Amino acid sequence: MAQQYPEWIWQNGTIKPWREATTHVMSHALHYGSSVFEGIRSYATPDGAAIFRLTDHLKRLYQSARIYDMVLPYSQDELAAACREVIRKNGLSAAYLRPVAYRGLGGFGLSAETPIDVAVAAWPMGPYLGPEALEQGITACVSSWQRFAPNTIPAGAKAGGNYLSGQLIAREARRLGFGEGIALANTGLLSEGAGENLFLVFDGVLHTTPASASILTGITRDTLKTLAHEDGIEVVERDLPREYLYLADEVLMCGTAAEVTPIRSIDGKQVGNGTAGRVTRRLQELYFGLFDGRTNDQWGWLEPV
Ligand code: PMP
Repeated sequence: MAQQYPEWIWQNGTIKPWREATTHVMSHALHYGSSVFEGIRSYATPDGAAIFRLTDHLKRLYQSARIYDMVLPYSQDELAAACREVIRKNGLSAAYLRPVAYRGLGGFGLSAETPIDVAVAAWPMGPYLGPEALEQGITACVSSWQRFAPNTIPAGAKAGGNYLSGQLIAREARRLGFGEGIALANTGLLSEGAGENLFLVFDGVLHTTPASASILTGITRDTLKTLAHEDGIEVVERDLPREYLYLADEVLMCGTAAEVTPIRSIDGKQVGNGTAGRVTRRLQELYFGLFDGRTNDQWGWLEPV
């Protein structure tokens, strides 16, 4: 089915029709992966549409840009206003927001100082890994592709080029009939999903892989750590060997798009009893509770549109 696009996009300071928000074929980013971006969700809350952790996402965007010496010609406040404008102008409430900054037209050398173009798009989005994923969980496999080593490409920057790795992992998983792929780091230890962080549960304690395992340190991962801590659930960040995937009581993936998705089997082996476990359910309740008012947002994470 063809994607239905909303009407308006913000590009380099102005709102324009979706079809007119184009870029030149010789844009640096198209050839060399030199873009940085964010994936942000807005939710329909009892108090109206709100963008979840907009400030934290934009902060990470500027950090990603800094790693690649990209100086955005807009302030973080200006981009926050652009995100709100795109949601409002398209009449969206529950949506996915995609700010992107990239090296545009103006030089073909790898170190070229091109202009930095910036755009913000948004579109309605339901559960990323399929409608049943949140309830029944997904199947996953360990990818034959490893994540890039820390001294090759920085996993902590959310840069376009990183998603070549994600595409290999996700496409292989789907080709083999799995819902999502999980990658190992170059150390052979667990890293993360193609576009999601990982949590394993042992005896009621959450375990998640550290920044040094070539992961993007997700904002959802941070949200779950905070919610768990507040709820008295212990969380440890640690190196995890692959076989722990097969021994855990529960495994879940999390990310802005994936939200809190249980994994029901890995490499054909059932996880726990094959359904979302107690801790996963509790995290889902707390996480989705932020958006319908059951969980008190004491952190100011919901930023009104
Ligand atoms: N890892 C990767 C590789 C991702 O692309 C994402 C999605 N942005 C995540 C983890 C989760 O990050 P977040 O919770 O900030 O969306």
